[in-house]
Amino acid sequence: MSENRTEISQLGEFGLIEHLTNTNETVQASTLLSVGDDAAVIDHFGKQTVITTDMLLEEVHFDLTYTPLKHLGYKAVAVNLSDLCAMNATPTHITMSIGISNRFSVEALDEFYAGVYAACEAYQVDLIGGDTCTSKKGFTISVTAIGEVSPDTFVTRSGAHPNDLICVSGDLGAAYVGLQLLEREKKIFLENPKIQPDLQNKKYVIGRILKPEPRTDVIEWLQEKQITPTAMIDVSDGLSSDLLHICQKSQVGCHLYEAKIPIHEETREVAYQFNIDPTLCALSGGEDYELLFTISQKDYDAIKDYSQISVIGYVTDIDKGTKLETKGGNMHDLIAQGWNAFRK
Ligand code: ADP
Ligand code: MG
Repeated sequence: MSENRTEISQLGEFGLIEHLTNTNETVQASTLLSVGDDAAVIDHFGKQTVITTDMLLEEVHFDLTYTPLKHLGYKAVAVNLSDLCAMNATPTHITMSIGISNRFSVEALDEFYAGVYAACEAYQVDLIGGDTCTSKKGFTISVTAIGEVSPDTFVTRSGAHPNDLICVSGDLGAAYVGLQLLEREKKIFLENPKIQPDLQNKKYVIGRILKPEPRTDVIEWLQEKQITPTAMIDVSDGLSSDLLHICQKSQVGCHLYEAKIPIHEETREVAYQFNIDPTLCALSGGEDYELLFTISQKDYDAIKDYSQISVIGYVTDIDKGTKLETKGGNMHDLIAQGWNAFRK
């Protein structure tokens, strides 16, 4: 961050909005009217519109001691785009609302917006509006994201059928161990500010917690292959909790194989350093923002060689329950806190 500090009061509310949005460029043909009026206008072009909104609160969802503002801006956008992906939608627009106190300088907000604009560019979405409010304490961020799907191709949590395959993109558990590392370094820093954190060999897991990426690539790939998942959710709370959401909404059971859960090598190393089972990180750690979905068995051949998707189990009748088969062949009930299932 630069050394200059410009007080928000020097610009005033309208000056600040103008300052934060004057570089804003739109790329979507559907954006008819963007920032600067009472509301924005979007053309639908015969598509169906998908809308989601999420709020991020300081001290509840993020800690500014170890979260750079630029990353926070990026993540605030990314997690909302991930919800659109979970609906099989292509993100097109966002609005960004912020509650800020005079603790923040204009330069600090510029950093935050640099992250917001970076995410908009990376995912080709237009920032089309927002709101700016004074907050007494803490930084509040609220993002609304809009996306589009071809008529009736949106995917809910409730369409899974027995014998469907359970799939997940990327790998799981890394964001959780990344967070454990950051929390540990924060504690060390607070006890002795002279010690600099050593996170050199932990870039993957730290990146996964600070800069999550919505899996628009997986959505595009599925659309190219003309595969429509029967049910889908993004993994924000941990594999077990999010899979249970699909099972409950779809009124089905599941059979999950521990051995098939994709976990990155660095995640395993860090988990062992903390003396935790990497599988538990995948089951119960959140914030991976991967896509968890079910497909009909007929689509298996099309996905089996795609490195970004792992088949981790299958859907069963509801009366079979929600089960996890461990590497040793034991069966456990899958519960929202996957943790307890493993406690001896
Ligand atoms: P109104 O009083 O009509 O709600 P505002 O003065 O709040 O209008 O906002 C003016 C314009 O700036 C609107 O287009 C609004 O969507 C946009 N805007 C306000 N705050 C932000 C922000 N933090 N980021 C992006 N756009 C914003
Ligand atoms: Mg307003």
